[in-house]
Amino acid sequence: MEAAQTEAPPAAQDASEATARAPELPPLRIGIGYDVHRLVPDRPLVLGGVHIPYKQGLAGHSDADVLLHAIIDALLGAAALPDIGRQFPADDPRYAGANSLQLLDNVLKLLAERQWRIVNVDSTILAEAPRLASFIPEMQATIARTLGVEAMNIGIKATTTEGLDAIGAGRGIAAHAVALLMHDPSLQDCACISPR
Ligand SMILES: [Zn+2]
Repeated sequence: MEAAQTEAPPAAQDASEATARAPELPPLRIGIGYDVHRLVPDRPLVLGGVHIPYKQGLAGHSDADVLLHAIIDALLGAAALPDIGRQFPADDPRYAGANSLQLLDNVLKLLAERQWRIVNVDSTILAEAPRLASFIPEMQATIARTLGVEAMNIGIKATTTEGLDAIGAGRGIAAHAVALLMHDPSLQDCACISPR
């Protein structure tokens, strides 16, 4: 009994120290994004900001870059901001044929204004065809350059659905993405942020 009493104070002190340290931990936020577009003739195929030679392209109001759209929604979701459809409405003529890298750059500014720094992004493209592996390094470099991070922080995988669904039948391409943000007060003075 006496021993327990003498051990109690250090344990309480540890808990108190842990509580005191908690506010210093960097606030992290995770987000998830998903998008799908139909494959149609007479459209360029653009994935991750890279033009992919293929007999079909993705249908959409903008350039229909399904990978960037999933990443944009993951980033917006992590910051609890309105999704891509509300940021860049499909019936807004300003975004007709829009380069999705420009939309991604707009999202980066929205995050920076709120002092959110991108830690990393991971993503998976679901496509029966074409084979995308050889284009992934260029996609990583393109996205990393736009987001101002190292390419090692941009994960991109490509897989098929083994012919099991509409994607597998070659009727479209889909993408999933997750993003991690870290609050960074130093972004407050960032000269790259233009007033909105
Ligand atoms: Zn889309």
